[in-house]
Formats: sequence, structure tokens, C-alpha cells
Amino acid sequence: MGGLEDEIRERVIRWRRRIGTLPGKHVAVEFIWDGDTSGWWLDVCLVMCEGLLFHHYRSEVIDTLRCGGDGRLFSGSVPPWPEAVIANRAGEQVARELGLAFFFPSPDDPDDGCPHWWQRNQAVACTGCGKLLLVERTRPGFRFCARCDLARRTRREILEDSPGISPGYFLFTEADGRVDECVFTSVNGELAGHLASAFAASGPEPISGSIDEILEPASLDHVVESLRRRISVLIPRYGPRAGCSSAAESARPIVWEGRELVIETSGFNPVGEEIWTLLCHMDTLTRWTRLGRTVHLLGNGGPTRRDVAILDSLRHGGGPTDLPQLHAAFPYLTESELLRTVAKLERRRLVQCRAAAVLLTVTGSALTVAGP
Ligand SMILES: [Zn+2]
Ligand SMILES: [Zn+2]
Repeated sequence: MGGLEDEIRERVIRWRRRIGTLPGKHVAVEFIWDGDTSGWWLDVCLVMCEGLLFHHYRSEVIDTLRCGGDGRLFSGSVPPWPEAVIANRAGEQVARELGLAFFFPSPDDPDDGCPHWWQRNQAVACTGCGKLLLVERTRPGFRFCARCDLARRTRREILEDSPGISPGYFLFTEADGRVDECVFTSVNGELAGHLASAFAASGPEPISGSIDEILEPASLDHVVESLRRRISVLIPRYGPRAGCSSAAESARPIVWEGRELVIETSGFNPVGEEIWTLLCHMDTLTRWTRLGRTVHLLGNGGPTRRDVAILDSLRHGGGPTDLPQLHAAFPYLTESELLRTVAKLERRRLVQCRAAAVLLTVTGSALTVAGP
């Protein structure tokens, strides 16, 4: 990890130089999370004491640590947050060398509800993890940080086995025993009706919530054909919203049967939005057909929070897991609750049990990869 070591060395030099230029009485180096819609960053601050007759503290931001956007949360690359690793290492070194206090109230995860160094005595500790929180950021009588609160709520939902993913269908392709591409539609979604009509065209079988089969190329053609018919009905009905220019951010140029059109695709224009959604699905399915991909159709049957949590933990475990391991991950579930859930998931072919091991099937991983 030469990159990390270099970065820490550079930050130490930069912060010492910057602090050296600031007048006043230096008290502490503190790290405070801040964020906007694109993600989190860490403000590196020098806490200074001002005033002769009374003490008055303030923080000056001397640097910002930002190693990426929110995408990292979804890709699972954080935690650990590299910003926090740098802050801990470089911050402690600078504080030690300059004889300052080191203050980093939320080293494990981003939190903008934490106090500055001089507010620490007015803060309350999270009941779950001990993190210091500003009182005004917590509900009266409620002392949990955002992360502990989420964990508590998740745990309650898993215990109560409350509804998880809304019932719907996954269409996915498989490569090397893994889910390659995946499309999800809820039972009321645009695509669901077209899937049903394709099945009605090819036989009497209606699609049910627990369907799990390979879509034959002919069925796939039916779906594409059904999408095409619907789009052909919608296109003459399409009209731009008054006052909306084709330069709007949601406007997309399309070519439909040789005609060039600009379609406004935001929710403010339901016809445009439906055309765009159906076109995207048609495009995906046509591409899969041309590439000769095997396409699976899977009804998710409306899995519960508990089902999803167990599938998720099998996926992140990355290999076979046995019951004691599952029990360790969900200590608040009884053995019979776990066994019952695993048996249900096995009946639905989402997991496979071999000897003592529980394995995620390709179908099961499709359900965890694309769960909305
Ligand atoms: Zn907490
Ligand atoms: Zn879609």
C-alpha cells in the first residue's frame, strides 16, 4: 500500500505547513464529516482558542479528505472509509508532533450529527456505540446515531419477518454460473404486463409469483413484439409538455421506424416516460437475443426482510456457510426460525443445502444483486 503511505506523508506535511501559517492559540486537530447529495467528505480542522477575557473556540478548515462518491456505499467498497484511515493516521501524527488534541468523533462511518471539539461536553453518547452526538440532532429521549438506529430498525424488521422486496419479476442472464445482467419489474411495472401477454400467447400458463424458468427465444420474441406494439400505440399519443424544450435534461432523441423524435422522459410526461422505459427494455432483450444469451425469468414471490437478509449475508460471505455461521450473523433469530427460512429458500431454489453447508444459487444471487 505505497499509495496510502505516500498520501499520509503528504497530508502530514501539508497540514503542518498550513497550521504553521495560522495565528492564535492552537488547541486541537479535529475531523468532521460533511456531505451533499453526491457523497461524504471529511473536513480537516484546526481548533483555535481566541479571546482574552473569555475563551472562545472556533474551527478553521485546513483541508478536505474525499476519496470518492456515494457509489462506494453501493459497491460495498466502504467501510472502511479511506478518508477515515488517512485522518486517523495523519491526524494522530500531526497532533502528537504539535502537542495538540486529536478529535475524530466518528471514525467508523460518516455522520454529520457529531460535535466539534469544544462542543464535546454538551454532546450525548449514542446508546448503541458510544459515539458523541449533538443533542439537537437526536430526538428527545432518543440517543442513537443514524447507523445504530438503522441497525435497530433492520433487526426489528428481520425479527418480525416483515415484507421485503415488492413482488415482481427478474429477467437475468447468466455467465460462468453468475448473474450477468438483470432487469427487475414489479408485478405492476410496465414490463410485467408484456411478460404475461407473451405467456398468454405461447400457452395457457399465466405467470405466477414463483415462476423460475428459462425464457425460450420464441417467448423472448413475443415479449419484444408486445413491447413494440405498445410503443407504436404510444408514439402518436406523445406530445411534449407545454413550455418544455427539447434541450431539457430528460429529453432523449430516438429513432422509431425511421422517424426521428425527441422524447421527454421525466415523470412529468407519463407517455414519454413509458415509451422510454419500454424502449430500454426492448433494447436490452433484443441485445440478449442477438448475443444468444440464456435468459432466466424469476418471480421473486415477494421475499420478506428476513429472506433478503439471509440471502445477502450468504452473498457477502462469498461461499458456503453453515448454520452456526448464520446463527452468529443473526444471533437474535432462533434456530428454528433460521431453519424454517433456509428450508423455504431451498424450496424456492434460492439456496442449496449440501451436507451442513448452505449455498446461494444463481437464482438466489439474482434476487440479491438487483433487489430494489
Ligand atoms: Zn451509534
Ligand atoms: Zn425497468
